Amino acid sequence: MREGFVDFAKFTFELIGKTSENNNNLKFAAVNSQIALELFLKFYYVKTGKVQEILKRKHGLPINEFNDFSQILNHFYATRTWSYGQKNELAKLLDVRNAIVHKGQSSKWDADLAVIIVRTMFFINATAWVLLRESILVNNYNPHEIGRNPIWRAGAEDFAEDFCDKVYPCLSCGAYALTSAEVMVLDSSNSEEDFICLCCLSSLNGSHVRILPCYHCCDEAYYLDSLNEQPNQQYVGKCVECKADDFVRKCASCDDFYHPSSKSEVLLNSKYYCCQDCAE
Ligand SMILES: [Zn+2]
Ligand SMILES: [Zn+2]
Ligand SMILES: [Zn+2]
Repeated sequence: MREGFVDFAKFTFELIGKTSENNNNLKFAAVNSQIALELFLKFYYVKTGKVQEILKRKHGLPINEFNDFSQILNHFYATRTWSYGQKNELAKLLDVRNAIVHKGQSSKWDADLAVIIVRTMFFINATAWVLLRESILVNNYNPHEIGRNPIWRAGAEDFAEDFCDKVYPCLSCGAYALTSAEVMVLDSSNSEEDFICLCCLSSLNGSHVRILPCYHCCDEAYYLDSLNEQPNQQYVGKCVECKADDFVRKCASCDDFYHPSSKSEVLLNSKYYCCQDCAE
């Protein structure tokens, strides 16, 4: 069953990567994402030993047949106080699927539906990670080409805004979709201190990458590698937003990074400190 939902999710992912307003892929992506979601929810109940709760009943006893998807979805939401997606969005996938399969309607271009499909992929990945320690995505190390697809990008930024506490502009793809791997990982190569980009599916090693408020534009978008020290306690960095790339300095006492133009900087016995307190 795990293979089932992972296969459909991966296929949905491939389809979204090739979906645009100018082709017919959206309907295939919608149907596949609904199947992936249904199989995922069934897998979740089986894996957590609660499958009885979503089986059909005869004379009060569960029989070897699953309830309908909408009942399973209702049960999932009725038994949770929080989730990585809205029930009505996930339910819409079923409506779209039924319109295609049962009524022969071929859905036209629908930008909202496209975003819902992407959000569903993240719903599955985040839920699978938080509840089951499973992931369907893959850490690509280098930016994945799907990040250039406007549908995926819109869905990734949308999900990040709704469900991630802190979101940064990604150093690789520029999308506002870089967040802490505490929410979900791309795969088991990530640790929870890493940063992952939901748009280009790459990650940054949180043990040495720092993201600071930029000294120039003040956005939290100034990246530096804390292992790459230059002379005079300086570090090379760059702001994704305003492209400022002056070196910043690390205080010899508190280890905070600051811009050398800071008026409170103190030079004492050839060491730099961020402020008078640190120098004493
Ligand atoms: Zn990115
Ligand atoms: Zn800046
Ligand atoms: Zn200091």
